[in-house]
Amino acid sequence: MFSDILKSNKCFKLVCGAGNEDIEEVEKLVYLYSKAGCNIFDLSANKDVIQAAKRGLKRSGITEDRYLCVSLGIAGDPHINKAEINENKCTKCDRCKNICPQSAITEDARSNYVKSKRCIGCGRCEKVCPHNAITMYSKELDLKEVLPNIIKENIDCIELHALIENDIEVMDKWQLLNDMYDGFLSICIDRSKLSNEHLIKRLKQMLEIRKPYTTIIQADGAPMSGGKDDYKTTLQAVATAELVQDEDLPAFILLSGGTNSKTAELAKLCNIKASGVAIGSYARKIVKEYINRNDFYDNKEILNTAINVAKHLVDCSIFN
Ligand code: SF4
Ligand code: SF4
Repeated sequence: MFSDILKSNKCFKLVCGAGNEDIEEVEKLVYLYSKAGCNIFDLSANKDVIQAAKRGLKRSGITEDRYLCVSLGIAGDPHINKAEINENKCTKCDRCKNICPQSAITEDARSNYVKSKRCIGCGRCEKVCPHNAITMYSKELDLKEVLPNIIKENIDCIELHALIENDIEVMDKWQLLNDMYDGFLSICIDRSKLSNEHLIKRLKQMLEIRKPYTTIIQADGAPMSGGKDDYKTTLQAVATAELVQDEDLPAFILLSGGTNSKTAELAKLCNIKASGVAIGSYARKIVKEYINRNDFYDNKEILNTAINVAKHLVDCSIFN
């Protein structure tokens, strides 16, 4: 059962990306990380993506103790941003293309363009563009419209990204989610826009309408910052988890946002007792070269190497 996995402190959550709607990539990631021992998969709120994840699980031959979680963002949350290139300003210098972790930027006759289904909204391209040709826009979903179809897919948990400053907006969406779905919920939260006091106050308010231990608090450091595998990168995730843990709230804790192979080690040294770690950018990066191969499923040697790379990350991320 999902709650047993959370209680066991043996969770590893692969974050495929709230904005990642590349179904081929999601199927491969889920297949690979399921084989590597990952037990929770975080997906974009898209029926096709959920079905791709289910195919990945089936292909891996392991469906027991494998759980699917869907993530929802609110306008202002970077996880649901998408990049857009103004072709009148673009000089095709390719800086954005070379830095994009998702290979989402592709050549066009006149300028480059963004494959929006692959874009995860990390904003790296926008930062490197010398001509301000890239802007970010928010792809917020209408919860009333999207939730019934998502719930029909029998997923195990729905996550709301409660990162924005506006309390009323967050609580409205949270209430709606609680009214429409009676399963496990997760709150993804970080300190980029909230003070420590504001963050705790919001969590307490959100948990008031929940039964004890039916909620996960995903304590984020810096969202989508986990490209590097060092202690410094993961420091903020551990600090947010410590802040949440000190409040002794009736919820499970997962660390995320800037997580890598050092996260569990550092968290244990800091006496954090969490259910586990959720890893996105870093987990995807270390298997990218294998996933992108055309012979990924057929080349046994490549597949075994990829599984071992992923398994090493999963193994060093387990708390218990
Ligand atoms: S960095 Fe800017 S100018 Fe260069 S290819 Fe990308 S969008 Fe065009
Ligand atoms: S760099 Fe990030 S924001 Fe830009 S296109 Fe790639 S995934 Fe999207």
